[in-house]
Amino acid sequence: MKYFESPILNKIRESDTKEALSYAKDAAFDYIDDIDKRAIFPENEALLNLAKFDTPLSLSPSTAKEVLEMLHKYGSPTSVVTTGGRYFGFVTGGILPSALTIKWLTDVWDQNSALFAMSPIASTLETIAEKWMIDLLSLPNSCVAGFVSGSSTATLVGLTAGRNKIYRNLGYDAAKDGLVNAPKIKVMLGADAHATVYKALSIIGIGKENVIKIPVDSEGRIIPEKMPPISKDTLIILQAGSVNSGAFDCFDIICKKANEAGAYVHVDGAIGMWAAACKELSYLVKGIELADSWSIDGHKTLNTPYDNGVVICKDKELLMSAMSATGSYLIKSENKDGMFYTPEMSRRARGIEMWATLKGLGKDGVDELVLELHHKARYFANLLKEGGFDVLNDVVFNQVMVYYKSNETTLALLEKIQKGGVCWMSGTTWGEKNVIRISVSSYKTTYKDIDISAKHILELAKML
Ligand SMILES: *Cc1c(COP(=O)(O)O)cnc(C)c1O
Repeated sequence: MKYFESPILNKIRESDTKEALSYAKDAAFDYIDDIDKRAIFPENEALLNLAKFDTPLSLSPSTAKEVLEMLHKYGSPTSVVTTGGRYFGFVTGGILPSALTIKWLTDVWDQNSALFAMSPIASTLETIAEKWMIDLLSLPNSCVAGFVSGSSTATLVGLTAGRNKIYRNLGYDAAKDGLVNAPKIKVMLGADAHATVYKALSIIGIGKENVIKIPVDSEGRIIPEKMPPISKDTLIILQAGSVNSGAFDCFDIICKKANEAGAYVHVDGAIGMWAAACKELSYLVKGIELADSWSIDGHKTLNTPYDNGVVICKDKELLMSAMSATGSYLIKSENKDGMFYTPEMSRRARGIEMWATLKGLGKDGVDELVLELHHKARYFANLLKEGGFDVLNDVVFNQVMVYYKSNETTLALLEKIQKGGVCWMSGTTWGEKNVIRISVSSYKTTYKDIDISAKHILELAKML
């Protein structure tokens, strides 16, 4: 019998990976050199080129260089310039050099971080990143971490663990027996909770609407006095850093009550958890260590590459039993086998990027990064306030909501900003108001970037 050998794969095997990587490096350098000249959001002309990709898949292969050239020619100009200094949309961190360079190298390694047996280096650095984070965020020593794609998944994992804990309190094993015959539990969250919290609740069988929404104050913080009685059947979701106002719930009071009652508290700390690593801002997270689990993003405030999120849970057994998997071929070790802390089995080794980012910054660097983002958000808010804007939130962290004259003028202005190319930010609603939401989340943003952006916004506003 003649066994098949692919001529196409033979060609690919013979091609020079180093040469292709070198083209990629040149294209990346080209991109970096151009970045300050680019419109922050691609102009229509560039966007029209997206149609160039929409061809039928050809029968014949392309070389890595050909694929790269096409992507660089039409794709680079249509990427959104989030790695410069004037992107303030959504909550979007930049990418720190230590993490970017490590990502390049580790992409060449292409490690699977499911098990220690699959990658000792990925497991080791994930373990170290876990230890450093727990220390940096002043969380209890019993904590363990799962490295996931972002806070959406981190919240999904944390809430699954919490759900199981609450059912255990009621003598029911939800992980084993499912929810069909489960007793009733209470889920409480603030009226300003993030969309991904509802998504997680719907995935884990609680239901988006089967919750008690606690009234919030003008900043979006849960009003503790408005919470109904908490008991051992209660799962509570708090927030460190509202995606709109940047506000933090009152962890201290609520967690103490929850702990006394035997309830479970998960904190959505996607943006704000890093305040715990900043001396001047750590007052915002007072008592946060009294919760049971936390979701944290690397790719926002900390400026790791996408996609980097972490779930931390105080109870190792609870997290591992929620994420358990068995298979006779799995090789468990004395070391950290990441897949038992996350929903996925195969995973890229993103813990290495967290390690590199933290090592690249040091404790002082993390402290100063968080503090600077906060100060820059306040600076931005003040420039716009002096220019006649209303700043609708107390800028306690990195989020600013501004309003200009009326809902209509605010929306018209936002559209002009988004088309202007100088800076980019997104909108939201706050109460009855349409607002422009500014998120200062990139280490790249300088005071000069903010001067340029604010001046531009004020000029646009005058022309309305
Ligand atoms: C961004 C965000 C999330 C979702 O995080 P992803 O990393 O995008 O999955 C959850 N909660 C808050 C408060 C956020 O800002």
